[in-house]
Amino acid sequence: MHRERVSENVYWFQSELYAQVTAGVVAGPQWAVLIDTLATPEETLQIREFIEHELGLQVRYVINTHYHADHTWGNCFFPGATIVSHSLCREFMREKAIASLEVAKKQNPALRQVKIVLPHLTFENGELNLRVGKKNLILSPATGHSSDGISVLVEEDRILFAGDAFMPLPYIVDGNINEIAASIKKIGRMGLENIVQGHGDIVLRGEIEAAVKENLAYISAIRKHVRIALKRKSPLEYLDEVGIEECSKSRVYLGGLAETLHRHNLRALYKAMLENKDTSIDPEE
Ligand SMILES: [Zn+2]
Repeated sequence: MHRERVSENVYWFQSELYAQVTAGVVAGPQWAVLIDTLATPEETLQIREFIEHELGLQVRYVINTHYHADHTWGNCFFPGATIVSHSLCREFMREKAIASLEVAKKQNPALRQVKIVLPHLTFENGELNLRVGKKNLILSPATGHSSDGISVLVEEDRILFAGDAFMPLPYIVDGNINEIAASIKKIGRMGLENIVQGHGDIVLRGEIEAAVKENLAYISAIRKHVRIALKRKSPLEYLDEVGIEECSKSRVYLGGLAETLHRHNLRALYKAMLENKDTSIDPEE
């Protein structure tokens, strides 16, 4: 696991085991806030070790940016903490996580000690503010990767923990392409110092404009290719030939998963456009 100090009392962690998934810590004088957990107990426990022994603090709040396993299955390792999320995150975890954990446990014995802990404190509309020492955290919806997505802005530092609404490769299979385009654009206008992506590396201030442009170009490109596919006799064969480089993306690593995510994006968007779902607004139009 990689660890970095992003600014005073703000730390970042990145998995070396699964898809470069990230988590963050904002430390106060008496307790700490953890933003997401990592995919495996091993790495989540390393974060806990760091907070308890290096910082000398306990975690009082765990914020879940969305319900997916790689961000929430470590909740159980902070039994004294209040888990905070969007109300839909709680709902999705209740409906889906328990069953998918049972399946995952059969394939991966390392998950044996994991239990699903649902969020205790949720919000639906607007923002939720959480004060940690001298810093104000602003939680607000950031959808598109999933409909329960939220981001966490460390207001004083202009650092945004974006969850998976901002990734090196936008991923829309469980979300909506228009919503993710809107989230990416909004993040680009926030005047940030850093974007902490839900996966991958931290985007620095000087890199934000290019990262936003590249992500919007990717969204336009997959939409364009799906439109072409819809007119073909063998649409899926056409889509299988569309490489990630033809969609304005290269050198995306994500622990080796980028190509798979790209394939899933094309298939999911094809299905959504075939069913005439809400997919029509082009971010560059
Ligand atoms: Zn994720």
